[in-house]
Amino acid sequence: MGQDCLFCAIADGRTDADVVSESDRWFAIRDINPQAPVHVLVIPREHLASLDDLEEAHRDLAGELMLAAREVARSEEVSGGYRVVVNTGGRAGQSVHHLHLHVLGGRGMRWPPG
Ligand code: 5GP
Ligand code: ZN
Repeated sequence: MGQDCLFCAIADGRTDADVVSESDRWFAIRDINPQAPVHVLVIPREHLASLDDLEEAHRDLAGELMLAAREVARSEEVSGGYRVVVNTGGRAGQSVHHLHLHVLGGRGMRWPPG
């Protein structure tokens, strides 16, 4: 992918973002349109269009992304209650087609989500 993908552009430094933390395989940025007091996106550097594109070879990466979400929750001080969301496909509301985990916290949340 690359040129046409927003999160690849952020990963490459072609587009600015408020980076919360990062590693060699992922980075975490504040969402530009936050839906909660804490709303951070955990994004793999590798372009994968969605969770549906994960394969067996991505097992370690998938684990790293979950641990990254936990680290973000800790550093943002919402460990007592937060939600990790992966919208997958247009029908689920995915609008940026590069895999990302939403980490939402800092307010009460309802179930089921809309
Ligand atoms: P999705 O709808 O694909 O699950 O989530 C995409 C998220 O990316 C949305 O929450 C949206 O607000 C966020 N977003 C869209 N454009 C930008 C941007 O340019 N910068 C940042 N930081 N977030 C963005
Ligand atoms: Zn991408």
